[in-house]
Amino acid sequence: MKSKLFFRLFTVLIVTGYFFFTGCSPKHIASTAKHGRPYVVMLSLDGFRWDYPAHYNTPVLDSLAKAGVFAEMIPSFPTKTFPNHYSIATGLYPDHHGIVLNRFYASDLHRKYSISDRKAVEDGAFYGGEPLWLTAKKQGINNAVLFWVGSEADVQGMHPDKWYTYDQQLPFESRIDSVKTWLSLPPAQRPHLIMWYYHEPDGSGHRYGPHGEKTREMAEQLDKWLGQFFTEMRKLPEFNQINFIITSDHGMATITKEKSVFLTEILDTSMLSIIDGGNPVFNLKVKKDKLDEVYSVLKENPHLKVWKHDSLPQRLHYGHNIRTHDITVAADTGWSIHLSPKKHYGNGTHGYDNAWRAMHAIFYAAGPAFKENYRQQPFENVSIYPLICHILNLKPAKTDGDFSKVKPMLK
Ligand code: AMP
Ligand code: ZN
Ligand code: ZN
Repeated sequence: MKSKLFFRLFTVLIVTGYFFFTGCSPKHIASTAKHGRPYVVMLSLDGFRWDYPAHYNTPVLDSLAKAGVFAEMIPSFPTKTFPNHYSIATGLYPDHHGIVLNRFYASDLHRKYSISDRKAVEDGAFYGGEPLWLTAKKQGINNAVLFWVGSEADVQGMHPDKWYTYDQQLPFESRIDSVKTWLSLPPAQRPHLIMWYYHEPDGSGHRYGPHGEKTREMAEQLDKWLGQFFTEMRKLPEFNQINFIITSDHGMATITKEKSVFLTEILDTSMLSIIDGGNPVFNLKVKKDKLDEVYSVLKENPHLKVWKHDSLPQRLHYGHNIRTHDITVAADTGWSIHLSPKKHYGNGTHGYDNAWRAMHAIFYAAGPAFKENYRQQPFENVSIYPLICHILNLKPAKTDGDFSKVKPMLK
């Protein structure tokens, strides 16, 4: 009975990849790292809340924290997908890189941006700053990007060396194959920076809420796929030179239909010329002379946070970009903002104030550059850019990130 149990545990450890990091001595890692340029392979799991591993069964992520680093990471405001992935890529707050929401009117370009508009998503004119893949490319470092926000656009007129049009149907296993194939290329073509993406557990979190049974299943399934990923990675001769980062763009909060505010019911929306955003955060452009009236009506509602753009708290680093218009309104924790009553409400969302821990993201890292079994203090996601530049020995472009905040996690 006992030996059966041990075998099962052993199998679990092998399958989950537990030994893959602990199997090599630090000395060995350090000596292989000296040979040749390091690698960074960074995966984003959309909407993977920082504390899912404390509630769900995620042995691979747990082993990654033991072999390397874990941090509760602070997303940028607003805590939506596109602003945050592009903040991680550029090290800039959304105000500074220009992807200020998932959907917005760019008054500077006189055009709309939306994550469901292919033409806009692929148009470099919307994207400011310098994403990591361009910093690498400009300095002669091969790079490959699978579906990271911004990688489909001609930012500064350039694409990553390898990039693909977004295809949500591409199975997780096929994405693992892509990463493995790239890392198996001859040295001259092999990318040293890889960024890849998966759209879960965000979708499950929206439908079932962060504590939903199906969200748990998805988080645990992702962990199993990560086990498969590390099994494949371990077979590569360069495994010991690769720095793996697994992160996410934001967390997820429970919402209920009952805690909803309907904009058209509390406000005469004919005073607005633009309403950008989606539950629970909106940017409003107000018609001439109506600013104070709109502001005071919204301010009266006890479940909303409302800011004119001269009074947004500095810590949000938001509201100066012309694309954010006149007023930002975000629901209070657990509350929703909709234009009017709806058919379906969902059970989870994100986009709230980034001070709320339910919005915080994961950051795991392991490899030759990182300390082992190290719990890093929470840091803002804009500091990933200088971290990766440091590891890959790249000269960083100007960013909002602060290398001193992430330096403690490095060896
Ligand atoms: P949201 O939860 O509204 O902030 O957005 C998350 C969704 O963005 C995911 O479920 C994906 O469907 C979508 N998404 C992520 N990357 C891309 C992309 N490159 N192009 C189009 N849609 C994307
Ligand atoms: Zn997201
Ligand atoms: Zn989402």
